[in-house]
Amino acid sequence: MRWSNFYLFTSREVPSDAEVVSHQLMSRAGMLRKMAAGIYVYQPLAWRSIQKLMTIVRREMEVAGSAELAMPAVQPAELWEESGRWQKYGKELLRIRDRHDRDFCFGPTHEEIITDVVRRDISSYRQLPVNLYQIQTKFRDEIRPRFGLMRGREFLMKDAYSFHADDDSLHEAYEAMHAAYCRILEACGLNYTVVEADSGAIGGSWSHEFMVLAETGEDAIVHCDECGYAANVEKATTELVAPETEPAAEATEVPTPGMSSCAEVAEHLGVPIETLVKTLLYETDQGIVAVVLRGDRDVNEVKLGNELDATFVRLASEQQVREVTGAPVGFAGPVGLEGVTLMADESVRELKAFISGANAADTHLQGVTWGRDAEPARWVDVVQVGGGDPCPRCSSTLVESRGVESGHIFKLGTVYSEPMGCTFSFGEGEEKPMTMGCYGFGVSRTIAACIEQNHDEDGIIWPRPLAPFEVLVVALNSKDETVVAAAEEIYGELKDAGYDVLFDDRDERPGVKFKDADLVGFPVRVVIGAKSLANGQIEVSDRRSKGRQDVARESVVEAVSKLLEDA
Ligand code: ATP
Ligand code: MG
Repeated sequence: MRWSNFYLFTSREVPSDAEVVSHQLMSRAGMLRKMAAGIYVYQPLAWRSIQKLMTIVRREMEVAGSAELAMPAVQPAELWEESGRWQKYGKELLRIRDRHDRDFCFGPTHEEIITDVVRRDISSYRQLPVNLYQIQTKFRDEIRPRFGLMRGREFLMKDAYSFHADDDSLHEAYEAMHAAYCRILEACGLNYTVVEADSGAIGGSWSHEFMVLAETGEDAIVHCDECGYAANVEKATTELVAPETEPAAEATEVPTPGMSSCAEVAEHLGVPIETLVKTLLYETDQGIVAVVLRGDRDVNEVKLGNELDATFVRLASEQQVREVTGAPVGFAGPVGLEGVTLMADESVRELKAFISGANAADTHLQGVTWGRDAEPARWVDVVQVGGGDPCPRCSSTLVESRGVESGHIFKLGTVYSEPMGCTFSFGEGEEKPMTMGCYGFGVSRTIAACIEQNHDEDGIIWPRPLAPFEVLVVALNSKDETVVAAAEEIYGELKDAGYDVLFDDRDERPGVKFKDADLVGFPVRVVIGAKSLANGQIEVSDRRSKGRQDVARESVVEAVSKLLEDA
């Protein structure tokens, strides 16, 4: 492809809403055009990368035994009512109404549609298992669309679904998909890790996420180098050791004027903060919930939502805190707290005596004991786990890092097949719901994640498998006929050798061409200039190391192929 024929316009402007580097670089490299919040045109350069990724994904889906189909993006509400999600899914679901006043939605995911397809086609265990996938545009009305392709509202996803007669068969498909996702990310040349995950709005019992590692990733993950445990912090657990405390004959009040934080109280009383508990009030769709946890710790709201099976949890307002506790924020405690569900985190279970708020202004209680003074309705695990915490499996130390969630696989069981009557027959006229798995891979997000992981101050550094073009051929002076002729020839040779080549034949200054080459991030650059050409030399360089070398005119293809091997 010649640059003059291609549609590629770089820019110095960074859109004001581009906070992350992938969004900034994709905008500057002319890959994206924003139409509305979270809705973009994939310009030709972006589309080439996306198509390369889709080719890799399709190849690995075939290996995993999944067949491609294409489902409608617009889905009838009736199916969502059958599964129960029309009510449950919330505002991320873009609901639309047709001219006959019938309700539809623009699909954020396709469990309902695929379950409807399969329940009509499959009736016997002999037809199972089945495994189907599509690559399609999804729409989720995300509350904060941001970061360009990382969190769009309209985005490209590969979604696969499998249906089985039993759990063993599901497990086999799940493992095959797990392996396929690893191979996809490896084939893309990305550095990634697989973590245990929360199963979120999709439901189900077991899931893993595939994280492309990048400091700028939205997800925090922890892992243990010792035993290999790895989890999203929305799912991670830990084993916090409770400090030894002396039991007290009774709980007694201590004045703590104006001390509304555990740190202040601990310092004032001269005790370790681990012997304090904090009590946080949350407003949820199930009423107000009080959560007690160690004084130095935070609640992970996703874990809390899962414990409660709640559709929303948010910190209670100051006024709600006053109504429930009779005190300002900062003095809540489990003793005598009424009218709310009291939950306590495992991190405070073993405390023999502890300090808590007294549900009275400027007052705390000392020597509080579970059982005698207060008792939670439920013990839960809602604590935010982080680097430095003990590994829940082997007690060695967890390490924290960040990543971009590129794929997410779930064992769904029968959460869709049961309400939707997707059953099969076995034995003597017996029927049961199929057990299901679903497997999502963010195609557009993975392109952004690739850039988060692979860039420098000058631009993108594409790993070869996802590069829109593998090689850029630059004619340094587009008015010098000898240079242009040699460049044309080399361009032809590289194309004939099977490489994806862009020929920068624009009438631009060398500086502009070099800047653009670095910004767009072609893995290998070939520069034809008058001076070196006169000596029979051509400059070849690779984007990652920026190491330049002059090679003989006849060896250009060989030199490019060597550099591409490592790109
Ligand atoms: P997140 O927690 O980031 O919102 P999710 O758990 O909602 O993701 P899934 O429902 O598992 O995502 O969707 C499968 C894949 O689709 C994700 O792993 C991700 O790669 C991609 N994806 C999800 N939401 C978006 C989005 N708003 N923009 C781009 N890609 C997305
Ligand atoms: Mg989401």
